[in-house]
Amino acid sequence: MSEADFDQVNADAKKADKIAYENNKLHKRLCRLVGQAIGDFNMIEDGDKVMVCLSGGKDSYALLDILMTLRERAPIHFDIVAVNLDQKQPNFPAEILPAYLEKLGIPYHIENQDTYSIVKRLVPEGKTTCSLCSRLRRGILYRVADELGCNKIALGHHRDDILETFFLNMFFGGKLKGMPAKLVSDDGKHMVIRPLAYVKEADTERYAEVKGFPIIPCDLCGSQENLQRKQIKAMLRDWEKKHPGRVENVFSSLSTVVPSHLQDRSLFGFVDLKTDGVPNPLGDIAFDEEPCSTPAPNTISLTQL
Ligand code: SF4
Repeated sequence: MSEADFDQVNADAKKADKIAYENNKLHKRLCRLVGQAIGDFNMIEDGDKVMVCLSGGKDSYALLDILMTLRERAPIHFDIVAVNLDQKQPNFPAEILPAYLEKLGIPYHIENQDTYSIVKRLVPEGKTTCSLCSRLRRGILYRVADELGCNKIALGHHRDDILETFFLNMFFGGKLKGMPAKLVSDDGKHMVIRPLAYVKEADTERYAEVKGFPIIPCDLCGSQENLQRKQIKAMLRDWEKKHPGRVENVFSSLSTVVPSHLQDRSLFGFVDLKTDGVPNPLGDIAFDEEPCSTPAPNTISLTQL
């Protein structure tokens, strides 16, 4: 082997080590952030049976993978059942998920329901199909959770989904409302959890590449991605590039709400407010500008997690 060949082999080995190191770091980060979110919101408790909704997209694969790792390490016992709803969309590769789940060796259920035909029949051509489609999907998943005896439903929404929803609601709905990390379902019967709440989409993207998840394309139904969500996504990506830290700060702000400094009269008693003569650092500071360079004491910095 010539000296040049030897140098090349050395360089390749170093590069491979670096990639392995970065991949390991990514896995650890995902486990830490998911564990942190589960702990912060008490998402999973001893004896729970968690239905993990698997769409075949990168996020739900990552969710299942990380939950399985955490289950092995957890001091409590909980069960996982992976569930996929096959909506009979054209060209849906029905064999991919069962083959993947068989290989993993975990309990799973594929629910076959032709919601695609229902949606196509009921929604006029050219109108958006997503709202009926998701309503049907929701009802089916709740029923399946009951049938499987699952008390928790885990969804693969991540930090960026939560932020996009937050801005969509603010920009187009006039509401300060995001996507909760944990909430009782609208039928009042199930606890819906989002263990990836602290995870960036870029990390699930990278993790999917590293793990080689057999991704199923998400545009099989032929529906266009929501244009408004697309715009918000682009805005957030632009901020990430041009203003490092801004997106994290916005996300942290969702955990540090100060109702007295907003205007929702149902959250703070503005109408009956009285002075009591007691100094309060959270009181109004008149003409002074609010200091915004120091994060509030309970602000979570995701880089620290
Ligand atoms: S994109 Fe397609 S599958 Fe997804 S909610 Fe909309 S209609 Fe349903």
